[in-house]
Amino acid sequence: MAGEPGRLLGGLDKFREECGVFGIYGAGAEVARLTYYGLFALQHRGQESAGMAVSCGNGIEVHKGLGLVAEVFHPEHFRTLKGEVAIGHVRYSTTGSTSLANAQPLVASTGKGMLAVAHNGNLVNTSSLRRRLSAEGSVFQTTTDSEIILNLLARYRHPSLPEAIKECMAQIKGAYSLAIMTEKQLFAVRDPHGIRPLCLGRLGASVVVASESCALDVLGAELIREVEPGEIIIIDEHGISSLQGARADRPAHCIFEFIYFARPDSTLQGLNVYAVRRELGRRLAAESAVDADLVVPVPDSGVAAAAGYAEAAGLPLVEGLIKNRYVGRTFIQPTQERRELGVRLKLNPIRSLLQGKRVIIIDDSLVRGTTGRHIIQMLREAGAREVHLLIASPPVLHPCYYGIDTSTCGELIAARWPVEKVRRYVGCDTLYYLSLEGLLGAFGSRRDHYCTACFTGCYPVPLEGCYLVEGLEPG
Ligand code: SF4
Repeated sequence: MAGEPGRLLGGLDKFREECGVFGIYGAGAEVARLTYYGLFALQHRGQESAGMAVSCGNGIEVHKGLGLVAEVFHPEHFRTLKGEVAIGHVRYSTTGSTSLANAQPLVASTGKGMLAVAHNGNLVNTSSLRRRLSAEGSVFQTTTDSEIILNLLARYRHPSLPEAIKECMAQIKGAYSLAIMTEKQLFAVRDPHGIRPLCLGRLGASVVVASESCALDVLGAELIREVEPGEIIIIDEHGISSLQGARADRPAHCIFEFIYFARPDSTLQGLNVYAVRRELGRRLAAESAVDADLVVPVPDSGVAAAAGYAEAAGLPLVEGLIKNRYVGRTFIQPTQERRELGVRLKLNPIRSLLQGKRVIIIDDSLVRGTTGRHIIQMLREAGAREVHLLIASPPVLHPCYYGIDTSTCGELIAARWPVEKVRRYVGCDTLYYLSLEGLLGAFGSRRDHYCTACFTGCYPVPLEGCYLVEGLEPG
């Protein structure tokens, strides 16, 4: 449709997390199989490629491929991928042809032995680093910024890898949660602001690191703590040790992990993600005054906030939209007709629940507005008398440069149009976004510990000018 903001990327209209990382150190443990299960739990963080690297006694073996974790790995891999240390990675990317080359972990043979790196996040000074490294003779085989990290680690002459990591951290800027391995050691590294998540756990005698605690839960591992901003954790035969690799003025954890990216059963900064989402729904109810008969969540992204809203507003919570859980990554052509088909393949309303009703529909965020528009049309066709769209986060006005696919400002509907014009475009009777104050209030005294740049434009790590032009792919 002419003038329609946004595009449908073969799925519902959401920001996309780019990657999830996992690592395990455990003598005698089935590290490859455990990594497989850990990646399975992190599948929501990236569905385009998956991979793992395993120390095998005489080097590091890697297996990676395009597709979901269950498509990339087969039982025979667990027979051949054997060792004491493993790291894994799931990735979403925006390109097709180069994506297998960009799949992680990345492995290199260096003066310090073999190294493998799995990276979640995005560097913002890739242009200058890549130029400099290329001028000094480095050859790049991928278009990911993660390869820059591997390159930097490989070139430092420190015999001690932690010192090399520290030196690398002094040069790279942006968001990075890293699982790094040698044949004998596992490292967990987080950028100085702690933008992307990374946690540490224990499974018997084994030590596990993962983007989210849900990956520990799946294994039956106990969450020890998060990797601190700027921290390097070293796990080897001597146990767990730590050093501060870099420092920032304050933490700036991605607040969108709580809004949408992280699984609701994960714990971040000591807070259960579902509980925070539910609280955002309560706050939305306190801020918005909408007269209605019932509350319907957009599944699954609006479920927790809708529960909080219904509880606070004293309204019935009704599953008026049913999600088809088997659509997966169905490819949908970006034409108007196919977009509607895409939404209908994923969601279907229950007419008998909606007929003649004044409906509040709740979602976590509104990015491009395309899906919201189709959902509202669907609810009206199902007989809803009024449809009020309430969003459990503020308007997304700015792109993310720290490892989330938000495309450009032009594709963010709230950046292009005022609220009333967005309301008319999506076709609802009321459109209300949770205020920034309402969002931050859910975090109490730690409200200053979060990145809110996609709402405020206040980026915790300054951007390098030509980064936007060059557009290297995040890890
Ligand atoms: S800009 Fe938004 S999505 Fe990106 S790290 Fe900050 S809060 Fe998260």
